[in-house]
Amino acid sequence: MWKMIAAAFAAMLATASAAAQDYPTQSITIVVPFAAGGPTDTVARLVGEAMSKDLGQQVVIENVTGAGGTIGAARVANAEPDGYTLLLYHIGMATSATLYRNLPYDTLNAFDYVGLVNEVPMVVVARKDFEPTDFASLVDYVKANKDTVTYANAGIGSGSHLCGMLFMSTIGTQLTTVPYQGTGPAMTDLLGGQVDFMCDQTTNATNQIQTGAIKAYVTTAPKRIAALPEIPAAAELGQKEFEFGVWHGLYAPKGTPAPAPAIERLTASLQLALKDPVVLERFGALGATASTAEEATPAALKAKLEAEIARWKPLIEAAGVYAD
Ligand code: ASP
Repeated sequence: MWKMIAAAFAAMLATASAAAQDYPTQSITIVVPFAAGGPTDTVARLVGEAMSKDLGQQVVIENVTGAGGTIGAARVANAEPDGYTLLLYHIGMATSATLYRNLPYDTLNAFDYVGLVNEVPMVVVARKDFEPTDFASLVDYVKANKDTVTYANAGIGSGSHLCGMLFMSTIGTQLTTVPYQGTGPAMTDLLGGQVDFMCDQTTNATNQIQTGAIKAYVTTAPKRIAALPEIPAAAELGQKEFEFGVWHGLYAPKGTPAPAPAIERLTASLQLALKDPVVLERFGALGATASTAEEATPAALKAKLEAEIARWKPLIEAAGVYAD
């Protein structure tokens, strides 16, 4: 009798480990909840390509846009938890938990965690011919022209929305915001002069700043970043409360697949991707910092998400900004 039980148990373990070794057997989709060509998309494509080399399967990026990233997040929360649909979402995963009254998923319980990906500062940028020349004149100009100045963002819950909220609360002025499906298309309009200014991840704005196609005033980084040495950091301008980083995490639908061999494989692959020289070179050139192997773990991402929900909740509640 005991022999039979032991044999059955051994067979079960063998099947589980074969399944773990087999994974992945088909292409993996990473849902990016913002438009193609924007900063989240750029990060996902770089990391996805490096992971694909390691996993031996294609990593396909699918842009599922809208509502500050929450539509894409909902798609993944409801996807089959089989290790073949993932989500790369940023700080908006934390802020949207408070900003949205009727989020169609439970932020802390709908996902499994693969690991943190990177952290990227934001930079306040404007169309090339926007009048203000530095941060002080930007504040004065925006206050004096608050009824006509337009601020682009990627919807409530996006990094650009959060950055705009902080900027407006810093200067005590509300502005007209123009929401886009991501700052990729917002950047196109900024370049075309259809919108005045915005706050974008350096991963999307650095090249345009370097070529002089847009103006930049301040970054949200703790100190000047190597890729943009001429742009002051917030603290230098006495704007310490304007400091924050847009962190990205890689998630899977809850229960992927129990007891999660896919997650372990994905975490290992993510850690490897974040050491890939091509990824590191691009991140460095665009002002992003790759997560360390300790940060690119399920536990570190979960802890970060919990801490960030707690960090932003009181600020969002104080601002009284909500969406349905
Ligand atoms: N940069 C956007 C944001 O504001 C997201 C994106 O377009 O990737 O969060």
